[in-house]
Amino acid sequence: MVSARPLVNKGLIKRVGSGNSISVWEDPWIPASCPRPATGHGAISTLIFGEDVPIILGIPTSRTGKPDSMGWFFTKSGRYTVKSGYVLAQQILDEANPIKYGPDIRARLQSRGLQIDPQCVRCGMAPETVNHMLFECPPALQVWALSPIPTALDHFPTGGLFTNIAHLFWNLPNDERMGMYPWLLWFIWKARNDKVFSNDDSDPNDIINHAASEAVAWRTAQERQEVTLVWRGIRLSYLPEVKSVRLMDHGKPQIPERV
Ligand SMILES: [Zn+2]
Repeated sequence: MVSARPLVNKGLIKRVGSGNSISVWEDPWIPASCPRPATGHGAISTLIFGEDVPIILGIPTSRTGKPDSMGWFFTKSGRYTVKSGYVLAQQILDEANPIKYGPDIRARLQSRGLQIDPQCVRCGMAPETVNHMLFECPPALQVWALSPIPTALDHFPTGGLFTNIAHLFWNLPNDERMGMYPWLLWFIWKARNDKVFSNDDSDPNDIINHAASEAVAWRTAQERQEVTLVWRGIRLSYLPEVKSVRLMDHGKPQIPERV
């Protein structure tokens, strides 16, 4: 019973009768999603926040001077039931631990009627599609702008995922530094996950540095130098297999070591 007290407190509402006993700023009298005091500051006549005004105007007041009373907000009768308490507890848990969905998934679930916020967690300005996450979200856009990959208004990045990927595949200048774009995509995705799962904000310069060093490591691992041996007067040339490669952050070799 003691452990249920905070939950019960969340669902208790002070029902307005005459209104005489209600403290506007302290009692849970506003029937919002959970009963609460009014939000605002200072004098009630001028400074109650706009969102509360229609709710307050919708509360009937007693003409007969009926006293204010306490009740349970989540049942029509005003009496607490285990079922309504359970529903509220579940709702509070869901709000404290929102399920983390990937890009596009939240928008799709919402279109099927689920109560899910499809907005991007990093900027809150647009639904989080794959294109938004990789190319249009301000932190991602900043990475592309600071990277050696040329960006141009109306050309790259655009609102089309396939246009952007096609541009990276086919249109980049023939420059060694352009090879870092797959790593930029990868580290932008990692930065998005760090924000969603750990609330960590990544520095765009760090993302570019990580991408650049992985790109160099990858290129180095691909280079095999021809070895020439002279054996019984015969010249033999061969390409040795790559034996040592740098380990990535997740601890797995980029390509399997061969003996
Ligand atoms: Zn965003």
